[in-house]
Amino acid sequence: AMATAGLAACGNGDDNNSKGDGGSGGGKIKGKVGIILPDTKSSVRWESFDRPVLTQAFKQAGIPADIQNAEGDKQRMQTIADQMITSGVTILAIVNLDSASGAAIESKAKQQGVQTIDYDRLTLGGSADYYVSFDGTQVGRVQGQGLQKCLGDKKSNIVYLDGSPTDNNATLFKNGAHEVLDKVTNYTKVAEQAVPDWDNQQAATIFEQMYTQQKGKIDGVLAANDGLGQAAISILKKNSVAGKVPVTGQDATPQGLQNILDGTQCMTVYKPNKQEADALVNVVTALAKGQKPQTNGTSDDPTGKRQVPSILLQPIGIFKDNVKQVVTDGGVKATELCKGAY
Ligand code: BGC
Repeated sequence: AMATAGLAACGNGDDNNSKGDGGSGGGKIKGKVGIILPDTKSSVRWESFDRPVLTQAFKQAGIPADIQNAEGDKQRMQTIADQMITSGVTILAIVNLDSASGAAIESKAKQQGVQTIDYDRLTLGGSADYYVSFDGTQVGRVQGQGLQKCLGDKKSNIVYLDGSPTDNNATLFKNGAHEVLDKVTNYTKVAEQAVPDWDNQQAATIFEQMYTQQKGKIDGVLAANDGLGQAAISILKKNSVAGKVPVTGQDATPQGLQNILDGTQCMTVYKPNKQEADALVNVVTALAKGQKPQTNGTSDDPTGKRQVPSILLQPIGIFKDNVKQVVTDGGVKATELCKGAY
């Protein structure tokens, strides 16, 4: 952890988020909720943003919450789910590591009378009763529009670093981005690759290969989140062209926001984590009371051939001129960004 008094360190914010269970003091609700986050590497959001806001939101609602992280291990996610159910969890929310393992967890929970919710990622072929997330296709559109804004309509070669092929969100993001960018006649897609498990190291390798293959003739990078964007930027830096090639992102991480302020990243997508946590609390509260949760749409699960009742929130595009909005909204602390940077 870094603790430089007064001066904010530039770049990575390492916030001391409070770990541990949410309020366990006898709420009005029977039972407790279990939430399993996917990993720590695909994005800093899970531990830096989601855990603290979920902890806070459930505490405020007086609902005991057990929040754990599967550390990228599908087997481990199943084990955590089993243990949670044994310990009395009656509602289980998961961010799946892939649809097959997520569906297995959900069906096993269901057999034991535990209701399940898909948090952020839809489990294809799953049996979750509800899905709480942001509108993924819209996230992709905002990224596509963002890249277009930074590039202008001049003739451009574009490469795509898509999210994990096993994450349904990655498909939605990619579809939304293509919907926008494929319409711009001056743009040519010269390469596109999905990054397994959103792995940042692999993303750098993949992007470096693209860069070499294209002999550096890349004008814009549609990167699906800030981690993948940072991977591309590191290679662009190595080739002394960072800042000349717009790169997109997602999650409004301290690193992504700092890159935007520094001019090496075009934009990021801010998905206020508190809104998502509050939406989950609302669904859980209704279920715990035996009521029907309020939803604002459905999500198509082509594998399970069903429409999943959903709460889908709206993402926000962040550029240099509105980075401050994320700080004002409480998405990051000002001290996590370079002092005086905006
Ligand atoms: C989430 C993104 C995140 C990515 C990697 C996606 O499912 O919606 O916010 O960056 O997973 O964790």
